[in-house]
Amino acid sequence: MNRSRIVDIQVHVVELPLRKTWQISLYAANRRAHAVVRLQTEDGIVGYGEAAPSPAFMGETGYTIETVLNRYLREAALGENLFDIARIHERMDSSIDGNSAAKAAIDIAVHDAMGKSLGLPVYRLLGGKVRPRMALSWVVGLQSFDQAVEEARRKVAEGYRVIKIKVGQALADDVRLIRTLREELGDAVPIRLDANQGFTPREALALLDQVRDCPVEAFEQPVRKWDLAGLRFVRERSGAVPIMADESASTLQDACNVLRNEGADLFNIKVGKVGGLYRACQIAALVEAAGLKATAGSNLEVSIGEAASVHFVASQKALSLPNDMLLGSALHSANLVSEPLSVIEGHVLCPERPGLGVDVDEGLFGHRS
Ligand SMILES: [Mg+2]
Repeated sequence: MNRSRIVDIQVHVVELPLRKTWQISLYAANRRAHAVVRLQTEDGIVGYGEAAPSPAFMGETGYTIETVLNRYLREAALGENLFDIARIHERMDSSIDGNSAAKAAIDIAVHDAMGKSLGLPVYRLLGGKVRPRMALSWVVGLQSFDQAVEEARRKVAEGYRVIKIKVGQALADDVRLIRTLREELGDAVPIRLDANQGFTPREALALLDQVRDCPVEAFEQPVRKWDLAGLRFVRERSGAVPIMADESASTLQDACNVLRNEGADLFNIKVGKVGGLYRACQIAALVEAAGLKATAGSNLEVSIGEAASVHFVASQKALSLPNDMLLGSALHSANLVSEPLSVIEGHVLCPERPGLGVDVDEGLFGHRS
């Protein structure tokens, strides 16, 4: 432990192509810039972190992370002891506001190194394991009606426990897809809606009105992220459909404000969105204390970021809903690790090796194509 000072931090931006255009109500993309952090301690332990935010969702990209890390965050973390994670966050926050994805990439690398240094999987550092096996949800992006129905059907056959569909661009199309999927998939497969802020409060309610007879598991981020009054307006009128906050709960303080305003029944806690594992666990505790539930979404990180999410969900009681935390590897045609986490009948197991439990392929660094 006394040789656990951080002596080197590097960031590499790697652009990875997506298998097909990924579209949600906020944006469309064909590739993503992933920022990979490689951190080393004085006794030679190496930890890796990853963040892959989309510019329209978070105001950050792999390239802003590179600049912010090189100009501000490296200095905040260099020379600190790995195990002083609260102090590292304090120093990062006082060096630059916001930039949660950049901070998450460092936080994940610190946790990976802590685990390797102690010979323990990361979940052990977060409280231990409350669930060994985690159910996954599949997310159907905005695409043609026929493609969306075919993809949902195929993913249910593969074993995914929840089908989440992206809505929020054209209300009539959304209604048609929800009604068709309900008929195709039956009531045993819950459907979760995610509008990514695409509706006004009244449009969101109009959608729910038109699918009143279809069981909807949850309605994620129906309105603009800053519209907490609108979120509450929808929640008070959504009947049996629980409202989930995602973009509205982008930080620990945001999550607290959503709870104070009684704006959500459920939370989507993304490790890469909220500033890393340390912050994600704080939010999970807040959600647990409120007697509510959460899921872990994804910024489409590949297996380094995904492994961080898996350790998070394995260790946090509030994270009891099926998660789309493994979406990134499935949507990309390349990865950053030699052996991606595998999905077995719609579930993932928590890695047991020290640290995150994935082997990073450093040969990929420097590829910007
Ligand atoms: Mg979402």
